Parts: sequence; C-alpha cells; structure tokens
Amino acid sequence: MTTIATQTESTPGAVDSEQRNPVFDELGFPKDPNNLYTQTVGSMLHAADMVDLQHRVKIILAQPKNEIMVHFPVRLDDGHHHLFKGYRVQHNNALGPFKGGLRFHPDVHLDDVKALALLMTMKCSLARLPLGGGKGGIKVDPHKLSPDEMERVTRRFTSAIMNDIGPDYDIPAPDVGTSAQHMAWIADTYQMSNSKSAYDGMRVVTGKPVEVGGSLGREKATGQGVADVMAEILPQIKIPIEGLRFSVLGFGNVGSWLARILQDMGATLIAVMDHSGALRCDTGIDAHALSEYSYEHYGIAGFEKSKAATDSGRGGKGADAISKEDFYSTPVDAFVPAALEQMIGPQEAEMLQCRVVAEGANAPCTPAADRVLQRRGIEVLPAILCNAGGVTVSYFEWVQNKACQIWDEETVDRELNKVMCMSARRTLLARQRYECDMRTAAYLAALEHIGKVYKTRGIFP
Ligand code: NAD
Repeated sequence: MTTIATQTESTPGAVDSEQRNPVFDELGFPKDPNNLYTQTVGSMLHAADMVDLQHRVKIILAQPKNEIMVHFPVRLDDGHHHLFKGYRVQHNNALGPFKGGLRFHPDVHLDDVKALALLMTMKCSLARLPLGGGKGGIKVDPHKLSPDEMERVTRRFTSAIMNDIGPDYDIPAPDVGTSAQHMAWIADTYQMSNSKSAYDGMRVVTGKPVEVGGSLGREKATGQGVADVMAEILPQIKIPIEGLRFSVLGFGNVGSWLARILQDMGATLIAVMDHSGALRCDTGIDAHALSEYSYEHYGIAGFEKSKAATDSGRGGKGADAISKEDFYSTPVDAFVPAALEQMIGPQEAEMLQCRVVAEGANAPCTPAADRVLQRRGIEVLPAILCNAGGVTVSYFEWVQNKACQIWDEETVDRELNKVMCMSARRTLLARQRYECDMRTAAYLAALEHIGKVYKTRGIFP
C-alpha cells in the first residue's frame, strides 16, 4: 500500500496569472485570471513543467484540436422560432476518439467548454482509457422549455453537429442539464440521418437508457467513482469511511448518488446545498429520502418541512434550513463539491471546516481557493481523479455496444472500482515521487502517459 507524504510546501497545482506560464504568451492567451480555461491550462502546464513534457506536446495540449460553434433555429410551442447557440470542442484524440459530455445550461461559454474538454483528455489519460477529450453544450435553460421543445432542440443540435461526431470519432454523453433521455434522442437522430449500420446510433453516444443500449450502472457511475476514490485514499490518511461525516454541494446526478452510496457504506450526510437552498442535520440527513424528494420537487428546498425529513432524520430529528455561510462552515470530515465550476473561491475555502475536499464537480475550486486550502492543510482529491467514474462506465457502455454485449451491474461496478483504484494509486505514487500536492500529482500521472504516446507516435508528418 502506498502511503501519503505529508503536505508539502510546493506551489499548489492550480496557478493563476501571477505565475503566468510562457506558453500563454506564445499562444496569445487572455490575461483574465478568472478565465476558467486559462486557470485549467495553467494547472496542466504547471505539472507539464515538472515532468519535463516536450514543448511541442505542451502547446498541442494547451489548445483544443477543434472548436465547433453552431447556430440553429428551433420552433417553440408558441409557433415562433428561437436561434440557439451550441458548441462541440474536441480537445485531443491522441489516445482515442474524442469523448465528453453535453451540457445544456444558460451559462455555457466557449472557454468553459474548452476547459471541460481539456479536463476530459486528462481524466481519460489518468484512467488509461483509450479515449480522448471533448465537451459540448447548448446555451439554454432546460427548465424553461417544454419536453417537446427540448426534444426538438436536442435533435436539431445533433443534426447541426452530425458530421463532426461519430461512433469511432467523437462520442458525446450526458452532463449538467442532460439525461439518458437526451442521449436517446441523439442516438435516434443520428441513426435516422447518418448511419451506415443499424448499430451506429447506439454507438455514437453513451449514457443512454438501458433499453436503448445504455449500460447498467452508468447513471450512478460518477458518484460511485468518487466514493471508490474516497474509500481507497481516505483510510490512508486515517479517515475511515465508516462513520465519516460529510457535506455535499450540489444534489443532482453526482451529488445525490455519491451521498446515497457513501451513506450505504456507513457514512453520514450532515449538510447539503443546491440551487434551491441548504440543509443541515447533525444526526444525519437520509440521502435516499432526500434524493426522492429532490427529484420530485426539483431541489431540496422544503425537505425540512416534509414528512420524509421527520421520518428519516436519523436520531428522530428533521433537517434545518440554513444559510450559505452556515453550510460552508458546518464541521465535517469531507466536503464534496458536486455542482458547477469555480464555486469555491478563497472566501468559501476559508469557511470550510473539513479535512478533505473530494471534487465531484469539474474545476469546483479556483486557484486562489486551492492556495487557501493548501495553507490550511486541507487535502484536495482533484476532479480528474475523483469524477472519472462517469467516463469510465461510458467507455464500458461503448465497449458493450461495439461487442454487442450486455454486462451485469456487478461486473460494471467491479471493473469501475479497478479503474478508480488504479488511478488513485497512480496519483499517490506521483505525489510521493514529485513531492507535490494531489492535483499536480494527478496531472503528472496523466501527462506522463500522454507524453509517452506522443514521443512514441511522433507528430505527423
Ligand atoms: P446536475 O445538473 O444533475 O446537478 C447539478 C447540481 O448543482 C444541482 O443539484 C443544482 O441544484 C446544483 N447547483 C447549480 N447551481 C448551483 C448553485 N449556484 N448553488 C448550489 N448548487 C447549485 O449535474 P451533474 O451531472 O450532477 O454534474 C455536476 C458536476 O459534476 C458538473 O461539474 C459536471 O460537469 C460534473 N460531472 C458530471 C458527470 C456525470 O456523469 N453527470 C461526470 C463527470 C463530471
């Protein structure tokens, strides 16, 4: 078993414009320190310098291979047409076909999609999956559209990017604001319009409903992967999962599954916050009851007054509604951000009363927050390690679709656990070898692999 080195004084993995990498100027990056793409590339380059990655690989990885932007009209229920903006960023395919989710959210911007695509490349490389990195999305508030409008938007977007995706080229998946249903519409649209084989629609997208070729275990996979990594690493820093007290920011797919799985492993959910409010119960909130409530009510607000809270409050007491500040400063062993990017700034990092932050969301901590957490001795398990469970089971789904196989859930969970534990061990080894923080270590382990691939393959011509 690998032991974790004590917290070092090295520069935290995330860096900002104060430590601007020369590659930024060479490629003409904007000077905005709050730009998510600049922050993400900064963290990656910080590790790339430590592992002595070839300059040509650094500049390749600092920019996506393709940035596709489309505008497409969709008829709304009231008869008028609205013009939507959609993106597909294909960051890198040195390891295999581009792979990454589609986000439907009003705040989707090109630079954010670029950052998320780069993180996918790093995630797949750290997990040693034969896949590259991509990401996409539509600037839309899904909650403002009817189901029929949503279907038309999804199908028309699929049609707009039809020639840029493919079962062996770029395979989308769900992310924030999209679900298995959206993936089924994508599969069907692709099959009807562009397929050469009866299987193409199924193989061009993952995260589908099980009845149209989805994998068992995919819906919970990201939360399960976070739990697998926590179970592998936390006991090594003397934080057992049995009896662990934790809080979760974001109670959607990742947050709610993680909470249910950790609870089933003997941990206790103490506090939770989503877009609708925050709750705390020191004797424990029942994650299963809260998930059911949240699904029904689109958010956790009001749960404290519901019968479920009174019945399920472990110790007989329901949860209390609390403020944002109280949520962040609730004492727990582990805090899991599982909402959106950049939600933990330096202020939130100062408020946290925990020993570990396990990143379920992508890029939830800003570089400034990272420095606060490091100064305060709070261990951060980075997103490219923690939340790779989704893409890993998406990979299993793609393998099953290609081989016309159906795996049982036990097999999926077992294979996922192997991948997550191996990624955790790779990260711990890199941390020991380079005496760095965990974020840098995860990037180092990812970059070593992709660096070797570029060295061996060379660069065409
Ligand atoms: P989701 O849409 O199911 O859930 C998002 C959650 O964030 C919701 O509970 C929402 O209420 C909450 N939220 C949004 N704005 C908030 C705010 N201002 N304050 C508090 N809470 C807020 O999305 P998801 O699929 O669970 O994804 C969450 C994160 O995990 C994203 O960063 C996503 O990229 C990442 N991720 C998801 C997957 C996956 O398989 N779904 C895989 C890897 C990474």
